[in-house]
Amino acid sequence: MNCMEEQIRISAFRWLEQQTAIYGDVLPYQLLQQGFDYQGERVTIIGPQGIWKPKQLRLIPISITTAPNGPYDDYSDERGLIIYRYRGTDPYHRDNVGLREAMRQTVPLIYFHGISNGKYFASWPIFVVNDNPAELSFTIAFDDHRSADLYSRQFTNSNSPNVFNEYIVQEEADYRRHYTTSIIRSRLHQSAFRVRVLEAYSEQCAFCRLRHPELLDAAHIIPDTDPRGIPSVTNGLSLCKIHHAAFDRNIIGVTPEYQIKVKEEVLKEIDGPMLKHGIQQLHAQKIVLPHNKSLWPDQEKLEERYVHFVKAQ
Ligand SMILES: [Zn+2]
Repeated sequence: MNCMEEQIRISAFRWLEQQTAIYGDVLPYQLLQQGFDYQGERVTIIGPQGIWKPKQLRLIPISITTAPNGPYDDYSDERGLIIYRYRGTDPYHRDNVGLREAMRQTVPLIYFHGISNGKYFASWPIFVVNDNPAELSFTIAFDDHRSADLYSRQFTNSNSPNVFNEYIVQEEADYRRHYTTSIIRSRLHQSAFRVRVLEAYSEQCAFCRLRHPELLDAAHIIPDTDPRGIPSVTNGLSLCKIHHAAFDRNIIGVTPEYQIKVKEEVLKEIDGPMLKHGIQQLHAQKIVLPHNKSLWPDQEKLEERYVHFVKAQ
């Protein structure tokens, strides 16, 4: 086993951990494209092709990527694991051979999912768990961070017993991977919803126009606890934290004609500038709408939600 290769993989995981601590799950493409320094050399971790192997690695790739503007959902099998297509149709293309080898040696990889141009959801470790030559695809499973930690430990601390392989093949591993994969997929959907809603509203609050993405959320019109509360932009509103909470608690409502209504009781209160400028003055104003009309909030959904607001008065 080439130990330098393993060190590069481990460094990639560490670097991603630092970046997600700064940016969250969704990372700028430029940052990924630049990659990180490993002993004075630049290691890239994403490339123009879906399956990516930096030049420092011999055969096994470092990451796989699903391009943005693809289908909203990733392909998944009936048990919820990710189906990842071969590169091209030749099972013996170098990239496909590399992924097959990752499966044979149980090498953890990184998964990137393009949410919009320049924004990629990042998750690791993933494992290639099946090769489906008839479908020209691999089956991919996410695993928990403990499996990445154990993998790192076996190459960084020679005194610690090698329990990575044990952990990877234990009886619960299959269950754990399915569970982790479903958690990561739902995180991916939430991140994609947030990115798309914020972009539709040019990264401003639909009520107060605040333009600080770090203070903005994608609010659901029909809540996601309802099966119809789908994560599509037309069921969303880009709102700052305070207005998101006010909308969720029915302190502020939106009519199907896109007009803001403030709860009557709250309109009568007398308090400081936050209440006055931040809430009361919004009453009867129109919300900010996306430039793209096809992304405007669904009026039927707004109506349904507005009925709740009125009832809560
Ligand atoms: Zn706001």
